[in-house]
Amino acid sequence: MRVVLLGPPGAGKGTQAKLLEGQLGVPHVSTGDILRKAVSDKSPIGKKAAQYMDKGKLVPDNLILELMGKQLSRENCRDDFVLDGFPRTIPQASGLEELLKKRGLQLEHVLFIQVPLDAIIRRLAGRRTCRNCGKLYHLVFDPPSREGICDGCHNDLYQRKDDKKETIAARHDVYQAQTAPLVDYYRERGLLQEIDGQANVEEIKGRIFQALGVVGA
Ligand code: AMP
Repeated sequence: MRVVLLGPPGAGKGTQAKLLEGQLGVPHVSTGDILRKAVSDKSPIGKKAAQYMDKGKLVPDNLILELMGKQLSRENCRDDFVLDGFPRTIPQASGLEELLKKRGLQLEHVLFIQVPLDAIIRRLAGRRTCRNCGKLYHLVFDPPSREGICDGCHNDLYQRKDDKKETIAARHDVYQAQTAPLVDYYRERGLLQEIDGQANVEEIKGRIFQALGVVGA
C-alpha cells in the first residue's frame, strides 16, 4: 500500500501513520523524524536542515528529494509506505512521481486530513515527544502518567523547538503557501480523499481505514 498523508502541521499525520504501521505493517516514513535524527547526529544534511527547521521553514527540495530517494530505496519501503510530511511542495510531488514511475509504481491513496488553525495551535502547543522512542503525548488530551516521562520507555519527553507558538504560525503560513497547492495537484490526479480530522484519534483512524478500504478497522 502506497499512501501519502497530507495536511497542516498538527493535523495528526504522525499519530495516524504510526497506527497504520502498527496495525497494517506498512512502514511509516516521516521526513520530519528523519531530519530531526540527522540534526541530532550532526550529519552534513542535518546541519544544513537545522537552519530551516528551527525557523519553521521548509528544507530545500533538492535536499529532501535526495534524502527520500535513499529512504525509499530501502528494502522495507520500496513498495509499501505511509508518507508523513512528504511531499510538501509541487516539485517534491513530481520528484516522487518520477521516482515511483522508474520502478513501475504509483501512489494509491492521498488522504488529506483537515483541521482548522485554532485547533492546530491547541494541539501543537501541548504536544510532547519521547526523546527515545518518539511516542507522542499531549499535555491536555493525552498526558503521560508521570509528568515529563514516557509511559512506554521511561525516557524524557521534550517539546519540539518548532512547536513554540510563534513558530507554529510561521509553519502554518508556509503550509498554506507551499503545501496546500498539493490538494489540487492530487485531486486532479484522482488520488485525493478528504478526511475530517476533528475527532478523537480512534475515530479518525476509523475514517482513514475506511478510506483505504481496510476491512475490520
Ligand atoms: P514535521 O515533523 O513534518 O512537522 O517537520 C518538521 C520540519 O522539518 C518542517 O517544519 C520542515 O522544516 C522540515 N521538513 C519536514 N519535511 C519536509 C519536507 N518534505 N520538505 C521540506 N522540509 C521538511
